[in-house]
Amino acid sequence: MKKLFKLFIICSVSFLLFGCNKDDNKLVMVTEAGFAPYEYRDSSGIVGVDVDIAREIAAAMGKELEIKDVAFDSLINELNSGKADFAAAGMSINEERKKEVDFSIEYVSSKQVVVVRKDYNKIKNINDLNGKTISVQLGSVADTYVTKNFKNSKIVRQKKFLSAAEDVKAKKSECIIMDELPAKELVKNNSELTILKIELFTDKYAIAVKKGNTELLNKINEVLEKLIEEGKIEEFVINHSS
Ligand code: GLN
Repeated sequence: MKKLFKLFIICSVSFLLFGCNKDDNKLVMVTEAGFAPYEYRDSSGIVGVDVDIAREIAAAMGKELEIKDVAFDSLINELNSGKADFAAAGMSINEERKKEVDFSIEYVSSKQVVVVRKDYNKIKNINDLNGKTISVQLGSVADTYVTKNFKNSKIVRQKKFLSAAEDVKAKKSECIIMDELPAKELVKNNSELTILKIELFTDKYAIAVKKGNTELLNKINEVLEKLIEEGKIEEFVINHSS
């Protein structure tokens, strides 16, 4: 009986230790995997530029990377509730988000563009967006921009860009406002769609962590600086563009 009890104690202690070590050894990235070339799914799982960067961060820290795929508007909550360590999701830096999370150094410069059906010609300049039906991703910087600037427009907020594309193809919406490279990927896969030559605004991507997590942020910045210096981010973009 005593022996059995000892064995039980040994087993429970090692299980606890093993369990704790395993968690300590994990680095959890949160993203929204409908944003090629930055994060998307292929036969091997979730891949993309941000995943390549996250793998470098995990390797530099000697940790195992776990990737969580959630809705874009849940990213900040995932960080602040401690469910994820960092968000790498083509996330643009802006003042509202800076109040809720801490951002790394910038690693991508992007711009917001307008996607329409090829046979649609009612948008020639920014002012023409007024009064139109505009699709955006819920919680994106495009959502904030359209909400602030086009009070007479009808905004269709989708969780996935694929749903926004379906809306435009089915004429339920007149355009999508979204980031340039993901728009290029979307248009490549949907021959009925095209990108207009109107630039709305530019933005910069960064990785986000929970406010005050400077230890992790410093490590992320170190890795990003090195990747930028070595031209690796451009390489990742080329590798993930179709
Ligand atoms: N860059 C945009 C933003 O931060 C969209 C990002 C995304 O949809 N993954 O709002």
